[in-house]
Amino acid sequence: MDYDIAIIGLGPAGSTLARLLNPAFKVIALDKKVAKLQQTDDKGFRKPCGGLLATDAQKAFIRQKLNMPVDILTNPQIFSVKTYDLQTGLTRNYQRTYVNFDRHKFDLWLKSLIPPTVTVYNNALCTEIGRIIDGYQITFIDEDGIEQKITSRYVVGADGANSLVRRMRYPNHKLRQYIAIQQWFTEEHTLPFYSCIFDNTVTNCYAWSISKDNAFIVGGAFPKKEANRRFEELKKKLVDRGFIFDKPIKTEKCTVVYPNSVRDFCTGNDNIFLIGEAAGFISASSLEGISYALDSAEILSKIFNSHHPKPNNCYYKRTFLLRVKLYSKIVKAKILTTPFWRKLVMLSRIKHIKID
Ligand SMILES: Cc1cc2nc3c(=O)[nH]c(=O)nc-3n(C[C@H](O)[C@H](O)[C@H](O)COP(=O)(O)OP(=O)(O)OC[C@H]3O[C@@H](n4cnc5c(N)ncnc54)[C@H](O)[C@@H]3O)c2cc1C
Repeated sequence: MDYDIAIIGLGPAGSTLARLLNPAFKVIALDKKVAKLQQTDDKGFRKPCGGLLATDAQKAFIRQKLNMPVDILTNPQIFSVKTYDLQTGLTRNYQRTYVNFDRHKFDLWLKSLIPPTVTVYNNALCTEIGRIIDGYQITFIDEDGIEQKITSRYVVGADGANSLVRRMRYPNHKLRQYIAIQQWFTEEHTLPFYSCIFDNTVTNCYAWSISKDNAFIVGGAFPKKEANRRFEELKKKLVDRGFIFDKPIKTEKCTVVYPNSVRDFCTGNDNIFLIGEAAGFISASSLEGISYALDSAEILSKIFNSHHPKPNNCYYKRTFLLRVKLYSKIVKAKILTTPFWRKLVMLSRIKHIKID
C-alpha cells in the first residue's frame, strides 16, 4: 500500500482530519481547489457559503485549541437575524452570535495548518475509487493534467455535498439535494443586516441575505426543478419588501445536502469513511455545516489515532449524538418550513427582540 489513509477533499472536514491525524500515518490528501497557502484570487474552486461561524463550530475550535486569525473576519459583526415570513408578512428579530468571515480565506487557513507529513495535492480531481484486495486504488488528475493512481488502506470521503466517494461506493444511498444560488451585490442598506426568509411558494427550504464587507449577498436553497426561476421570483418579492440591490457582481451555485430523515446520514463501511457534508452532516434548519464537518473529522481522527480494530463500527457509534442532534434539526426544519407552525412560532414572539 502506498498510503495508510487517503483523504478526498480539503474543506473544513478534510483539512481538520489531515491536521489531527497522528503524523506516524502515511496520509495523502487530494483537493480540487487551486488554493495554495494564502492565495485569495478568483481562480479555481471556491465554496459558495454564507460565511457565518455558528457557536457549535466555535466550540469545536475551543476543543481543538484553535484561534481564528482576524484577517479572516469580515465587516460588520452582526448580532441578530431578521426573520421574514413572506407569506404572512410577519417579521421577527432573533439574537445570534455568528462570526462573520471570509469563507475562502477560512478554507485556505485550515489547509495551511495541515502538517508537512501529509502529502497534499492541490488542484487535483479525484475521478475513481476502486476496490483492491486489501484497500483501494484511487485515480486522480493532478495539477499538470496527468492521471495518477495510488493505493491506500483507508479512504475518507470529505468531498462535500456532491461527494464522488459517496456516489461511487454507495450509489443506492440517495440524499435529498437542493440547488443553492447566491448573488453578490453592492451593499446599499444604511444598516447592514442578516436575514432568514421563508416563502413556501418559492422554496420549501429557506433563503437568506448577508451583509459582508460592503457586499450584500442574497441566496436561497431551491428544489432542483426551476431553481433559477424560483430565485428570480424571490428577488422580486424581496425588492417589494424594501430590500435594496441592483445588478449582481457575481453569482454562485452549488448542490447542498438537505437531510430529511436519519437514513440520509451515511458514515461509510468497509474501510471507507464519510465525514462532513459528504456524510449528510448538515443542519436541515439552517444549512449550517461547518461545525458538523469539524466534529465528524475530530471524531474520526481519534478513532484512527487509537488504532481501533473496527474503525467503521466505532465511527458509526461515536457519531450517534451528532446524528441525534442533526435529527432534531430535521424536526425543527419541518416546523419552520410548514406555514401553519411557522406562523404560530412567530406569533408567539418567543425570543423576539423588539426594535423601535
Ligand atoms: C450557499 C451555502 C451557504 C452556506 N453557509 C454556511 C454558513 O454560513 N455557515 C456554515 O456553517 N455552513 C454553511 N453552509 C454549509 C457548509 O458550507 C458545508 O456544510 C461545509 O462546507 C461542509 O464542509 P465539508 O468539508 O464537508 O465540505 P466542503 O466544504 O464542500 O469541502 C469539500 C472539498 O472537497 C473538494 N472536492 C470535492 N470533490 C472533489 C474531487 N472529486 N476531487 C478532489 N477534491 C474534491 C472541494 O475542493 C472542497 O474543498 C453553506 C452551504 C451553502 C451551499
